[in-house]
Amino acid sequence: EEPELTVDDVVTIRARRIARSQRNYYARPMNLVRGRDVWFYDEDGLGYLDSLNNVTHVGHAEPRITAAAARQMRKLNTNSRFVYPQIVTYAEKLVATLPDPLEVVFLVCSGSEANDLALRIARQVTGRRHVVNIDGAYHGNTGVVTGISPNRYKGPGGQGAPPTTHEVCIPDRYRGAYGYDDPEAGAKYARDAARVIERIDADGRRPAAFIAESLMGTAGNIVFPDGYLAGAFAAARRAGALCISDEVQVGVGRLGPWWGFELQSVVPDIVTMGKPLGNGHPLAAVVTTRAIADAFDTGMKYFNTFGGNPVSCAIGEAVLDIVERDGLRARAQDVGGYFATSLRRLQQRQPIIGDVRAQGLYLGVELVRDRATKEPATREAFRVTELTKERGVVVFPNGVHDNVLKIKPP
Ligand code: PMP
Repeated sequence: EEPELTVDDVVTIRARRIARSQRNYYARPMNLVRGRDVWFYDEDGLGYLDSLNNVTHVGHAEPRITAAAARQMRKLNTNSRFVYPQIVTYAEKLVATLPDPLEVVFLVCSGSEANDLALRIARQVTGRRHVVNIDGAYHGNTGVVTGISPNRYKGPGGQGAPPTTHEVCIPDRYRGAYGYDDPEAGAKYARDAARVIERIDADGRRPAAFIAESLMGTAGNIVFPDGYLAGAFAAARRAGALCISDEVQVGVGRLGPWWGFELQSVVPDIVTMGKPLGNGHPLAAVVTTRAIADAFDTGMKYFNTFGGNPVSCAIGEAVLDIVERDGLRARAQDVGGYFATSLRRLQQRQPIIGDVRAQGLYLGVELVRDRATKEPATREAFRVTELTKERGVVVFPNGVHDNVLKIKPP
């Protein structure tokens, strides 16, 4: 047995050895030693209900996942220039969850890498540089995708948008120009997006891609009004841009359907996936059409040492099987629906709850100081999550103002 480090040891050594820009959750964090199902356990064996980890999609330490991983690690692990069965079995299963014509797979190791590759594909295939994104979005940590992530380039320490990035406004019916009471909100936000796309296209900054999550996660659980993505995708396609759906955070059945774009009745040209795909193991993917994948093959090799290795594929296959066999898509809707109803009831008693946004088991509770002015209750949100943690429930704020409690449990 290795000697145990106390929470104070870990915090002290972390401050010394881990680069400070890698922030941790909580002013007084717990020292996690174990996880199982929807529970975390700290150094004292205290359990915390995990309401935050969408990555451990089918549960912490899920026995079927750990068995699949261990079995494959004992058998074979290598890179995808070798030929082995796991990669094709997995690719077939993944493609079976997607509508036509999404059928060709790149396997990578992180959501950031998936978006980086998706942009590279879009730029190469269209021969253009410009990208249209949605204000407030986060798409990852590489140099390129930081440049399409307003959550970073407009946030603390940010340097602003690169000249090739063009934002459309966030279709937020709580704070935006078109509210919940407007049945045309989706079409109106889409029209605003179309104006941006048409303007840059007309002045020669021709767009390679429009990238959007299917429900915005880090931006604060923004559930799109009906018709939004259909209108925005149509405008992007009229301008010759490819449509990229970032499903890294919300995909793999949490919202009800396998993929969030289904809720908006659209089919993207490129879809990126990650986080829950490997239940915590670094597995991510880009899936696109045959035509786009073939146009990307100019002769230059694409190689990824870890992406699509046999162990990752065995784990990815186990995740898809569990979601299917355990009926987790329906379950996400049942439990999420019940949860949303309860939160809306709570909202009637608690003036600090300005808005509740929910789709499947992906919920956001927006806290405000004043319901009329909607002043963000950011400090209060951090305080609430510190207190819920003390009571054994793990949740954390996010959103443009860091005032939305994000609830997305295993
Ligand atoms: N896209 C979205 C929508 C995300 O939420 C994230 C991670 N928060 C990423 C991409 C980046 O994924 P990763 O951290 O695996 O690189």
